[in-house]
Amino acid sequence: MKPTGVTAFIGIGANLGDPAAQVLEACARLARDLPDTRLVARSRLYRNPPMGPQDQPDYVNAVACILTWLAPGDLLTELQRIETLMGRRRDGTRWGARLLDLDILLYGAERISEPGLRIPHPGIAERDFVLFPLRELAPDLEIPDRGTVSQLCRTVSAAGLVAIPEEAHA
Ligand code: ADP
Ligand code: MG
Repeated sequence: MKPTGVTAFIGIGANLGDPAAQVLEACARLARDLPDTRLVARSRLYRNPPMGPQDQPDYVNAVACILTWLAPGDLLTELQRIETLMGRRRDGTRWGARLLDLDILLYGAERISEPGLRIPHPGIAERDFVLFPLRELAPDLEIPDRGTVSQLCRTVSAAGLVAIPEEAHA
């Protein structure tokens, strides 16, 4: 375990129930319920149309920055525990509607490619709902082999993405 901890970024998404409230509760749980971890910052919340199947409600997405002393696999287990606590049911539908999705986007500069865990998260460099919130927190961050977050933001359209005013969910 590194004495200084590792800076990691977590993608948060929800599109059932009250999605903005779910995302905010997930952030509170990242701060409160993750062992050996501190919540450093979170982005604004963004509303955006679903990826994949279109017959589901819009998503609300955000990105959180954490400082963690958990190993990547343990971090994933803890995030899945929070998903389950918040009522997520896994029915196997890829990109299907969900109360809460927590993805490890980046874990320091590590690259991991295991059956159940890929870091950086695949798709990070193409997804507006990941890149734009991430740019608020870490514009100069390097995505391994892809460039900085700011550079990548210039290559994707954010046409469908709308930042939700903070007072709307204060
Ligand atoms: P998705 O996020 O793609 O919609 P799920 O949240 O249902 O789908 O995740 C499916 C599986 O993805 C999880 O069981 C997990 O093992 C795996 N996975 C691989 N890499 C990651 C990662 N970086 N963060 C979160 N889950 C991951
Ligand atoms: Mg996921």
